[in-house]
Amino acid sequence: MTLIDGKALATKMQAELATKTARLKEEKGLIPGLVVILVGEDAASQVYVRNKERSALAAGFNSQVVRLPETTTEAELLDLIEKYNQDEAWHGILVQLPLPEHIDEEKVLFAISPEKDVDGFHPTNMGKLWSGHAVMVPSTPAGIMEMFKEYQVDLTGKSAVVIGRSNIVGKPMAQLLMDANATVTIAHSRTKNLAELARQADILVVAIGRGHFVTKEFVKEGAVVIDVGMNRDENGKLIGDVKFDEVAPVASMITPVPGGVGPMTITMLMEQTYEAALRNS
Ligand code: NAP
Repeated sequence: MTLIDGKALATKMQAELATKTARLKEEKGLIPGLVVILVGEDAASQVYVRNKERSALAAGFNSQVVRLPETTTEAELLDLIEKYNQDEAWHGILVQLPLPEHIDEEKVLFAISPEKDVDGFHPTNMGKLWSGHAVMVPSTPAGIMEMFKEYQVDLTGKSAVVIGRSNIVGKPMAQLLMDANATVTIAHSRTKNLAELARQADILVVAIGRGHFVTKEFVKEGAVVIDVGMNRDENGKLIGDVKFDEVAPVASMITPVPGGVGPMTITMLMEQTYEAALRNS
């Protein structure tokens, strides 16, 4: 069994990104800029935002975090986004989710200019992805595709099962796998005989949000298993959706949690900001 080391790949890619960024600054005087907007006090969001800021700075980007109070109105947030849409110094705009209940999340995500939508959640970017002309791709599935590339996982003709159909992971993951010539099935909470279906997969991507849900009964001998899940167990420990200890001996390759998909997500966000700066300067 090969452990897919997302942390090591992310570290390598971030070092390469810092080098590319320094060269861009030297040759073109261009510095990629990423703005992260956080509304409210959600503890997990604060950690995610700090990590994004740290990665952006490590890459040599201009980085700005706008922290707004929980009481911020939807109109105020939309105005702020429009301000950054118009400001050429910023190439990526990211609004940290979840937003407080009084703010319409869809309205906010749709207000971000598609050219600056480094999360890839805008319908224009989703449409481009689904029509085979991807520009901005949600970072988590983009990071998983990089892991397949690094570990030379040939997807052509393979049977892939994606468990989870969210807009940020499951659906774009399925599309990217299909683009890479895998034959893809998307499963979800209403799927019948899930374990049996998953056992058909050469490539199994799990993005459910239920700790240790996927046991060895879900996994074909020799399958490549990608665990997107980030859950806390009863002791507050970070665990994946896959029961790693019993699945790893069956799989040919597997991602750990932590140290698998997570670090790649943030790396791809930085890559997309760099690419957006190149495209839109
Ligand atoms: P989400 O929006 O809640 O979607 C979860 C999906 O799982 C839904 O499609 C749901 O089906 C399906 N599901 C739930 N219970 C199921 C069950 N018992 N059997 C089969 N399918 C089931 O979650 P998400 O945003 O995609 O995130 C999924 C997990 O990945 C979470 O743990 C999240 O924290 C993690 N995540 C990690 C990263 C990272 O960087 N590592 C990034 C994003 C997300 P229905 O559609 O039928 O409800």
